[in-house]
Amino acid sequence: MNHHQTPSIPVVLSIGGFDPSSGAGITADLKTIAAHNCYAVAAVTALTLQNTRGVVSVRAIESTLLKQSAEALLADERVRAIKIGMLANRANAGIVGEILEGSATLPAVLDPVIRSTSGATLLDDPGVQYMRKHLLSRVRLVTPNIAEAAALTGMKVENVDGMKAAAQKLVEMGARAVVVTGGHLDKAVDILLDEGGYEVFAGEKVKPDNTHGTGCTFASAVAANLALGHQLREALVFAKAYVTEAIRKAYPVGPGRMPLNHLFRMQQPSRVTDRAPTVPEPVH
Ligand code: PLP
Repeated sequence: MNHHQTPSIPVVLSIGGFDPSSGAGITADLKTIAAHNCYAVAAVTALTLQNTRGVVSVRAIESTLLKQSAEALLADERVRAIKIGMLANRANAGIVGEILEGSATLPAVLDPVIRSTSGATLLDDPGVQYMRKHLLSRVRLVTPNIAEAAALTGMKVENVDGMKAAAQKLVEMGARAVVVTGGHLDKAVDILLDEGGYEVFAGEKVKPDNTHGTGCTFASAVAANLALGHQLREALVFAKAYVTEAIRKAYPVGPGRMPLNHLFRMQQPSRVTDRAPTVPEPVH
């Protein structure tokens, strides 16, 4: 086999939960990463049952299986960034801590998923404790939304000042860089705090019904941009622009909170367009 004919593309490892409605979790991550011209691989932490109306139930994957699957993917030595989402429980959070320790040179983005918008628990309390103590400090970036920032810090977070204070607290707790995403506010403002201080990223509120999995999508877009070699700030600007456009181009797929259109850049030719292949006459 000749490996030198085509340049390789960066591989991004997504560690998270499976959302069978493909709006959030690893299915959203795989689409997002592919939309950034990276190759996505995934280690599953949990199977969720859900649709656009919300999460029905959650079953965690056995932690030894999570460990083996992440290790097998990393053993290929092509992973250039790691994105972490739903972890389900303390055991799986602990495995992710070990994986991060063993892959310290790779940029990792942690979306500290705790609850779904519909109210389901996606990480148990001991898992949240572990995340506070051992995961925040082992990643390049943490991307809590307002509720997650409040849960991790124990602070009230209701506006931009609260977001800034929570970001500061997360840095004191060990995070290198934090983006608190404010998609749930009137204006979709995100606050970055890193070595360079605070930066406010103003955003547009586009379609409020198409926001299922926005946090997962944002974090995996940042991870893909880091895998492509962009600096953190640039990666954030690109990721926010991508998420905004994916919400704008979203289409209805159910009666509840709907997903983004992760693949808006890749509309395929359909049978009704003139770019569709013609079906040849059968040869007998
Ligand atoms: N399911 C999985 C597997 C997730 O990772 C998440 C969020 O990160 C959700 C569901 C909830 O997504 P949302 O709150 O956007 O509905």
